[in-house]
Amino acid sequence: MARKKIIIIGNGFASLFFIQYFLLSPVFPLFAWFLRRVYSKYDITVIGNGHFVYFPAIPEFITGKKNSQGITIDIKPFLRRRNIHFINETVTDIQDGGRTIITNKGHYKNDVLFLGIGPAFLKDDIPGTREHTLSPCDGPESMLLFMDKLNSLTQGIIYLGFKINKKDGFVSGRGGQMYECACLLDYALKEKGIRDKFEIHFFSPDIAVDETGMITDRLQERGIILDYGYEPAEFVAGGMKDDDGSLRKADLILYSPGITGSKLVKESCLPVSAGGQIDTDKYGQVKGLTDVYAAGDCASHENPPPWVPHQAHMAQLRSQAVAKNVKAMLKGEQPVTTYRYELSCIMNMENDAIWLHMASDNKPPFWNIFPKHSKKLINVKNIFEKLYLIYLRYF
Ligand SMILES: Cc1cc2nc3c(=O)[nH]c(=O)nc-3n(C[C@H](O)[C@H](O)[C@H](O)COP(=O)(O)OP(=O)(O)OC[C@H]3O[C@@H](n4cnc5c(N)ncnc54)[C@H](O)[C@@H]3O)c2cc1C
Repeated sequence: MARKKIIIIGNGFASLFFIQYFLLSPVFPLFAWFLRRVYSKYDITVIGNGHFVYFPAIPEFITGKKNSQGITIDIKPFLRRRNIHFINETVTDIQDGGRTIITNKGHYKNDVLFLGIGPAFLKDDIPGTREHTLSPCDGPESMLLFMDKLNSLTQGIIYLGFKINKKDGFVSGRGGQMYECACLLDYALKEKGIRDKFEIHFFSPDIAVDETGMITDRLQERGIILDYGYEPAEFVAGGMKDDDGSLRKADLILYSPGITGSKLVKESCLPVSAGGQIDTDKYGQVKGLTDVYAAGDCASHENPPPWVPHQAHMAQLRSQAVAKNVKAMLKGEQPVTTYRYELSCIMNMENDAIWLHMASDNKPPFWNIFPKHSKKLINVKNIFEKLYLIYLRYF
């Protein structure tokens, strides 16, 4: 019998977690390591650009602790070790209810499709976003450009902010990452001895003007000016225009727009949620299509709690459930595995750190063995990163 053809689009967190949970579980790690080099039960293909980027480390470009090279991995050897074909192409369309994948160079058929194509950002939401702002969410290049511009300034006004797309009922945006960037920027400028020459502002129309709490305390103790509730009418050269036409001066703006689905989501046969993402059910199945699954930042949730964000951690939980459901489906069974909702991330401020956490079942992270507020969490965050990158590079 012909092996089932599984196509995975994208080589980011969601796709790699799917592969990790889908392939032979390493009860005997050495045996599995050898076996999967020579034998595959399925014919698996990944279509992507071949470079995995560890996004959570990008804010640390600001302190010079991380760089592009250190957080980008050629993922082809990882795939070869698992007997997975790799196609270095960009998917431009999905047809026949998911069975035909069109790329910039060819077309491919599948029996099962997994979509881990990541987010797109609502850059047309506020005019001037593309021309006058930079974002860590656009990847290492945009953050490097921000650093070049920052390094050319000896004084000035810097605005950092974010917006959330709330149409799918959860946090489709990057708040935590932007708070982290603001605190790291404060630290870096203090290290250079020029913090007093800069104003750092933090804005978001999605935070109530009178918001209080752990994160707000951290921003205030660093002298970061809170422009909570503020949304610029337009980003322009030299700053931002308000509704009344007045100009707020800014020498540099780091801004993350709300998250939506990419052009591929909107222009292919995929169902689109109210927020523009792939409409996905609680089993990770793409609604209305057969044997098509999605996870990570490209996909909406079914009845999510309003606090859940798009995170690598959520991609992991969802990809794990999808892997089980695909296995069940390949055995002729119904998908029954759902996933937990959990927000979990360490906000690194270089001289301090906090663990931001919420879970749908109220389970604490790692049985509460770690403190919630301690500089030591920076080491924990670094260890997670190192272990994951070692796994991708060598296992
Ligand atoms: C600055 C920053 C800090 C973050 N910090 C944290 C953190 O501390 N903790 C945490 O859990 N999460 C964090 N996140 C969020 C996390 O990085 C994302 O949630 C995660 O990357 C989502 O994984 P994904 O696989 O859905 O998307 P991605 O990682 O973006 O991967 C998408 C993949 O799809 C490919 N692709 C897209 N379109 C196509 C196409 N048409 N054809 C072929 N391939 C395509 C891309 O090339 C890429 O390989 C952070 C994000 C940022 C930006």
